Amino acid sequence: MMAENNKDANRPISKTGLVYEEKLTRHYCAWNTSYTEKPERIQECYSRIQQLGLVERCVDVPVRPARDEEILLCHSKKHIDLLKETHFMTTEQLGNFSRSYDYVYFHKTVEENARLALGGAIDLVEQVVTGKLQNGMAVIRPPGHHAMSEEYSGYCYYNNVAVAAKTAMEKHGLQRVLILDWDVHHGQGTQFAFYDDPSVLFVSIHRYEHGMEWPYLRESDYDYIGEGRGRGFNFNIPLNETGCDNSDYLSIFFNLLLPVAYEFQPELVLVSAGFDSAIGCPEGEMSVAPACFAHFVQLLKPLAAGKLVLLLEVSTARA
Ligand SMILES: [Zn+2]
Repeated sequence: MMAENNKDANRPISKTGLVYEEKLTRHYCAWNTSYTEKPERIQECYSRIQQLGLVERCVDVPVRPARDEEILLCHSKKHIDLLKETHFMTTEQLGNFSRSYDYVYFHKTVEENARLALGGAIDLVEQVVTGKLQNGMAVIRPPGHHAMSEEYSGYCYYNNVAVAAKTAMEKHGLQRVLILDWDVHHGQGTQFAFYDDPSVLFVSIHRYEHGMEWPYLRESDYDYIGEGRGRGFNFNIPLNETGCDNSDYLSIFFNLLLPVAYEFQPELVLVSAGFDSAIGCPEGEMSVAPACFAHFVQLLKPLAAGKLVLLLEVSTARA
């Protein structure tokens, strides 16, 4: 019996962490219900995880408010303070303030939710980095990959994946982090956060359509490859047609992403996981089958000794 226990204690840890919190459904756009970033997004996602009996197989990682010093790793103090002020605004003031930004709405709970989502993401990533968990998924909102140092953008306020990567590097000494952004939109906030940093290989697969797709940036094209010491570590894979399917995405994995990722030898793999390239998403207009995302995960697992964390970005809930 004793020997059995010892054997168990020595067994490699292979647990999956899951971040979800009902509080994160509080914020919504009070004046425009057509926005795709709505509470049902994470509720539907989590209820499907429950239906499949997966919740019991995961370790619950609670959310907690991210601290200012953590947010400051990627954002300015002005950015933090301005978001704090939205808590005290009337609906009319929130609407007016939103007009200064691109695809952004504010709600009195958004600052608290952005902190909670980010805190959960940081803790999940830290538990994977320190070996308490093997891998994990954060079903969180607001998303993060469009948030820039001093600009809210695309329903994003704090850049969850960027702050989590910075924490892994600054607090835990990691030297090579791969961030894959398979959301159908360009993760421009993450690109800008690490554009001159060779310790983060940022790969984004996104709709581009020769610059005609949001966020309409020239910087989303393939020739934006990083600068200074980070030159060669920013890797955009712009798609100039809609309707891309499993074979197109798997071809990108096998021919572009994986060869570069293996050469980089990351110590941690983070995914900005939007599911708007899935079949049926009106925003994405792509044709990736849901089962194909499992293949993406399996293809990434051999990297970084399986230290893999998915952070939800945007996917559209059914109406
Ligand atoms: Zn998206």
